[in-house]
Amino acid sequence: SGEEGDGKVYKVGIDTTYPPFEFQEGDEYKGIDVDLIRAIAEDQGFEIQLEAMDFSGIIPAMQAGELDIAIAGMSITDERKEKVDFSDPYFEAGLSLVVADGNSEITSLEDLKGKTVAVKKGTTGATFAQENKDKYGYEIVQVNDSTSMFQEVGNGTADALIEDYPVISYAIAESDLKLQVVGDRLNGDNYGIAVLKGENDELLKKINDGLASLKESGKYDEILNTYLGEQ
Ligand code: GLN
Repeated sequence: SGEEGDGKVYKVGIDTTYPPFEFQEGDEYKGIDVDLIRAIAEDQGFEIQLEAMDFSGIIPAMQAGELDIAIAGMSITDERKEKVDFSDPYFEAGLSLVVADGNSEITSLEDLKGKTVAVKKGTTGATFAQENKDKYGYEIVQVNDSTSMFQEVGNGTADALIEDYPVISYAIAESDLKLQVVGDRLNGDNYGIAVLKGENDELLKKINDGLASLKESGKYDEILNTYLGEQ
């Protein structure tokens, strides 16, 4: 009889709203991340409970012992690796610069002098914006979630925003957002599933084994196709 009996329910942190990775329809959570972690848990025989929160609250909640797992379109970064252990990568992403539809004035970072850039707290987009602020001479406005960030640019409060390209492409294609992506992608990264660093080797192994098994069975592709269409 181990301390972690079979009755353990792992709490999984997800972003409040981050389609196509996580979103709510009625009182149901849906999305690539949601379906993946459910399928991994089923494959590996553990129970989960989803907890939606602002992205910037997820790693602090893990550190406070309130979450066991995070899957939130979270990019694998060296900075985060000081606090969490990541699974094998499960999705390729990276950042794009986004402006209002029809804005022909801003076509790259070089055009941001004196402008305002909206970012979401705690994200790689916020870090990128901070690191390049002095070089390009813009101001930063920080918000809590992607919906608010899109609104900042939609209503003209901010001139541009920085968001993961799979997310902004999906948002533009699937909704009536008046936004457009400009220029080349700003960087490239990979999403990983996180557990608190150094304490969860067994759980991380189950997550990696589950992910590998979904890739092998075709379930992984099936989940991606559900939200993104045949690739
Ligand atoms: N991929 C980005 C990051 O890890 C954004 C994640 C998010 O907004 N959910 O910071």
